[in-house]
Amino acid sequence: MTDSCEKVLIVGSGPAGLTAAIYAARADLSPLMIEGMERGGQLMLTTDVENYPGFPDGIMGPELMDNMRKQAERFGTRIVSSDVTQVDFGAYPFKVWVNDDLYHAESVIISTGASARWLGVPGEERLRGYGVSACATCDGFFFRDKELAVVGGGDSAMEEALFLTKFASKVTIIHRRDEFRASKIMTHRALDHPKIEVIWDTTVEEVLGDKEVTGLRLKNVKTGEETEFAVDGLFLAIGHTPNTRVFGDQLELDDAGYIVVHDGTRTSVEGVFAAGDVVDQTYRQAITAAGMGCQAAIDAERWLDEQV
Ligand code: NAP
Repeated sequence: MTDSCEKVLIVGSGPAGLTAAIYAARADLSPLMIEGMERGGQLMLTTDVENYPGFPDGIMGPELMDNMRKQAERFGTRIVSSDVTQVDFGAYPFKVWVNDDLYHAESVIISTGASARWLGVPGEERLRGYGVSACATCDGFFFRDKELAVVGGGDSAMEEALFLTKFASKVTIIHRRDEFRASKIMTHRALDHPKIEVIWDTTVEEVLGDKEVTGLRLKNVKTGEETEFAVDGLFLAIGHTPNTRVFGDQLELDDAGYIVVHDGTRTSVEGVFAAGDVVDQTYRQAITAAGMGCQAAIDAERWLDEQV
């Protein structure tokens, strides 16, 4: 193994990756992190985080991620601010490319998270950034006194709708079923809010507007009836897709594209570990991702010890 071979290479920089980096760095493994262009992951798009233990008054998502990053760097994590473009886990040491730059690594921890899902209906892509958004905390500010729609029935939809009431004159949640899957507390907060209304059993079939969003074509899934609904903006909160595109032909993935792990954080390739939302469809919390990141670093450290 040459000097330029990393002991631990971490891909992704959300709570899982940064926690893995803190633990790997403190284990003297001098990790290299390829943090990705969406540095910090989904928490960078969040405002108040009220459920991360240790912050009784809550903390802003970007501040939490900035703190984790500083903590990882303090113990010697080196960070490359790009996306991984290709990997080869078929040969050892593993190969990881960032465009033309090739890195070799004895172990890899993947923590690339998941990204917001889109509806895939006409008008949506064309009007993205012109009234269509998947991030209320990023774009809500631009819709002062406007009427907005949020699609989805999970906690994210409730959270986005509640956040948007700070700016919008009215927020309509459009949901494809007749009940929300969101937690009771979030559901009640949304349903009790005077600015929030709900359209049940309805899907968005088309986003209308020439240069910016002016309305939606809706379909009632029970009656089949189609209507036009005037809004100034559409926010999507319909779940996420795991960021596994570059690993697809190298690692075992499940049907939804999440990396399959066993015995903690071990993937189908020995020496490659995965943690956080890229493996977890169930919990998807910052704290569970951080916990898995810790596990991945410990799993990698033990695995490296066994190889000597
Ligand atoms: P989610 O729970 O998977 O909810 C996605 C919602 O979008 C569902 O209601 C789903 O409808 C709907 N949906 C999916 N695809 C759709 C499509 N093509 N057209 C229309 N609707 C569609 O996702 P999430 O809300 O992002 O939450 C993910 C996880 O993070 C959850 O575990 C959640 O509890 C957690 N979370 C927690 C908080 C918090 O505690 N503050 C905040 C945000 C998220 P169906 O219900 O019909 O399937």
